[in-house]
Amino acid sequence: SREYKLVMLGEGGVGKSAIIMQFISHRFPEDHDPTIEDAYKTQIRIDNEPANLDILDTAGQAEFTAMRDQYMRAGEGFIISYSITDRRSFSSVITVDAPPLGNKSDLQHLRQVSREEGQGLAREFQCPFFETSAAFRLFIDDVFVALVRQIRQH
Ligand code: GDP
Ligand code: MG
Repeated sequence: SREYKLVMLGEGGVGKSAIIMQFISHRFPEDHDPTIEDAYKTQIRIDNEPANLDILDTAGQAEFTAMRDQYMRAGEGFIISYSITDRRSFSSVITVDAPPLGNKSDLQHLRQVSREEGQGLAREFQCPFFETSAAFRLFIDDVFVALVRQIRQH
């Protein structure tokens, strides 16, 4: 069955590794080493078709042009995540050409980036927008399903 190379971009600390861990193994790691870059494989069915996902968990250097170009060549589907509690992490999303994902939606009381701001950015990519919580596994599957569907359409 078809393989999909996906790359998870975004600043350190926004929850990239937690999102991938929850997606693949239904676990929430409290302390994943932020410097580890690793690839994870999983197989799922989407719209009754199997999909082999190869997900690259990056170490948060997407803002550096050289790294960004390398990542962009390495994948066919991208997500750039930010934390809704960290405006700075949202600012670096704007410099990367990929659909945004707002994580840590469980921390509403610490919110710095509105849902509308995230949605506005997602509109440019004509893709659905999700605010996720890796901590509570909210909308985690939806993100990957939407990404694979988008690749299949192209
Ligand atoms: P990464 O550097 O982007 O890979 O971020 P990590 O996955 O290592 O997460 C950074 C920190 O944020 C860790 O302490 C996680 O437990 C925490 N974290 C990640 N996702 C969430 C979330 O959805 N909600 C909350 N409350 N904390 C989260
Ligand atoms: Mg990480």
